[in-house]
Amino acid sequence: MKAGVLNRVDELVYTEIDTPNISDSELLVRVKAASICGTDLRIYRGKKTKGVRYPSVIGHEFAGEIAQVDASVSGFSVGEHVCVDPVLPCGGCFYCLNGMENVCLNRVAIGYEYDGCFAEYVRIPAKFISQGNIQKLPDSLPFVAGALAEPLSCVINGQRKLDIGIGDTVVIIGAGPIGIMHMMVAKASGASKVIVSEPNTMRRRTVADFGADIVIDPINESLQDIVLKSTNGLGADVVILAIGNPKIVNDALLIARKGGRISMFAGFSTGDKPSIDVNLIHYNELLVVGASALQRRDMKTAVNLIASGSVDVGKLVTDTYGLAEISEAFAKAESGDAIKVVLVP
Ligand SMILES: [Zn+2]
Ligand SMILES: [Zn+2]
Repeated sequence: MKAGVLNRVDELVYTEIDTPNISDSELLVRVKAASICGTDLRIYRGKKTKGVRYPSVIGHEFAGEIAQVDASVSGFSVGEHVCVDPVLPCGGCFYCLNGMENVCLNRVAIGYEYDGCFAEYVRIPAKFISQGNIQKLPDSLPFVAGALAEPLSCVINGQRKLDIGIGDTVVIIGAGPIGIMHMMVAKASGASKVIVSEPNTMRRRTVADFGADIVIDPINESLQDIVLKSTNGLGADVVILAIGNPKIVNDALLIARKGGRISMFAGFSTGDKPSIDVNLIHYNELLVVGASALQRRDMKTAVNLIASGSVDVGKLVTDTYGLAEISEAFAKAESGDAIKVVLVP
């Protein structure tokens, strides 16, 4: 089969490799859409190395069609459309037993320990099937939308800790694909006002089209003034950092109301240590939370939201490439001129 193989940092090549053979209790999925994640870009550039093998096929956001099913697998048949939660928790560690399987100590993932989706086929190991990592998609749903169930699940996992409810004002910093998904999920949860801050003009326009109530250019406008003005001087109920920029961590704390909830959703580069005014957390009783990956239940919620049309993630795809153009696709994703880039093998 054809695949994009990461030979080493900065070297991703389109080449022929062996089509995976499935063993007992496994499935083979023919990839129909594979989206490029910010994490893939960080892996490509060597900024993320944990669990990454060289050479290997990376990529973990995908949807496809079942191409082959081992005789011992029940409940799945050839031709069905599926998407896959790429992270497999161990089920037995402290975190798995305490409702935090997304930070499992022994987790493994497709696109890391197992070959990923920038290829024509992906082998699905038995445990992913028995533990509920495979979600069926309606035949009518475009595969690109199914591929985005994974990042949407990460957003749902992050927002669970923020408890967004009816009437909340939510500020989202960064209008990349993740920021826009946060906006859509916050609205679906009942937020009455979503304010988005984004320096890139194209992205500001996109997030406005998607229904952001107020869009701010933080270079030429004061985020703090606008947030205070639109919340009767109180500050936002919820602030989500959807971009890992150390310079804006303090701003995020400044624009939350007393008792506000703040998510450090985006990852930062290793070594980033922004200085923050800790008294903002102390006196304002702020709740600051993180977010890592997704739980299997989030994938189910994501597929339901997508299939019902409540969250139209398919609209986030601005650029589609064939697998042979994987280098161009990565360059486009890195350029910041795209929202979501998808490979269609
Ligand atoms: Zn991802
Ligand atoms: Zn575990």
